[in-house]
Amino acid sequence: MTDHHSSERTLNIESRLAQIGSINEPTTGAINFPIYQSTAFRHPALGKSTGFDYIRTTNPTRAVLEQAAAALESADAGFACSSGMAALQTIFALFGQGDHLVVSLDLYGGTYRLLERILSKFGVTASYVDTNDLEALEKIVQPNTKAVFIETPTNPLMMVTDIQAVATWAKSHQLLTIVDNTLLTPFFQRPIELGADIVIHSATKYLGGHNDVLAGLIMTKGEELSAEMAFLHNSIGAVLSPTDSYQLMRGMKTLALRMERHEYNATAMAKHLVDHPQIAEVFYPALPDHPGYDVQNRQSSGNTGIFSFKVKDARYIEPILRSIQLIAFAESLGGVESLMTYPTVQTHADIPTEIREAIGVDDRLLRFSVGIEHIDDLIADLDQALEVARIEVEGV
Ligand SMILES: *Cc1c(COP(=O)(O)O)cnc(C)c1O
Repeated sequence: MTDHHSSERTLNIESRLAQIGSINEPTTGAINFPIYQSTAFRHPALGKSTGFDYIRTTNPTRAVLEQAAAALESADAGFACSSGMAALQTIFALFGQGDHLVVSLDLYGGTYRLLERILSKFGVTASYVDTNDLEALEKIVQPNTKAVFIETPTNPLMMVTDIQAVATWAKSHQLLTIVDNTLLTPFFQRPIELGADIVIHSATKYLGGHNDVLAGLIMTKGEELSAEMAFLHNSIGAVLSPTDSYQLMRGMKTLALRMERHEYNATAMAKHLVDHPQIAEVFYPALPDHPGYDVQNRQSSGNTGIFSFKVKDARYIEPILRSIQLIAFAESLGGVESLMTYPTVQTHADIPTEIREAIGVDDRLLRFSVGIEHIDDLIADLDQALEVARIEVEGV
């Protein structure tokens, strides 16, 4: 928020994004923060440090990214990790034998796999629930529950959770609220301002934004939690390299422009598909008849560029994925290039079929990460693929 009466005027988010890592280096005049490739840092004397000792603990390039990321999410500290999964693993290391977590039902497949196949070995259990249903939350909470973990909107079904309501409920039970904010980014949604304690990002997606860097970010609120996370981040060591830290900052500089275009394109595309005769259903919170529309509008300033849709006939899927040209059939989301994913066999393959189908991830569902190409070209590409599918399935 801008306060024009204050002498210390806070910059708007677009300006803060564009200026990430910008410096005025006195000897060279360099605009951009350099990549410090150094793993070790010389100590001036015994007991003295420049603030940098060893790369895993901290590195100047990574530190600039972490401070910028923390400020964007209104957090007290930021931690850059080697992937979104590394960030999740680091967060989950807060918990141990006998601890229980309450988790969003429609969850990123990798997070589900981490909880069920790895955290379970360390005695951490999880219950999956519609986190928008406070009565269901109340029923599932146990004396050993330590945190609630939510994604909003979820991927791929775009279910929206009221972050403030969940965080308030969680506080009343002394639980931490952890939010995976990958799909909206701090440009559109800032969970810590709504009461969350920890925000996690797969920065591989919108923050990096160009389908060319693997990274994760953790942001924490509060001194004690931030200190504990710093300990885990350093001890586990799944940290981001200086080069990737630079790459990520470079991507983040254009986040505002990209998110505005992603939202514009996804909204236009979703509206186009709602009226399409071969499409059964479109899942996108920007559409007024989406059940999460009001909550989404209240807690976020915009919409993600991802939506999902169900085709009327599962036999359309194969020819569509074979026929799209501009849109790539690939796993991932959030980059400038449009990608189409088939969750049942790709991102959500590790979720048992019964659970997957119970929540609606079935063989007619496609997920579309709408890029920043011209909307007319995207519509033309998908329309021609749908037409190929129609002719092959229905003849003529
Ligand atoms: C991709 C993704 C992750 C995992 O991140 P990686 O960077 O691929 O390790 C976690 N959560 C969500 C919502 C994601 O989309």
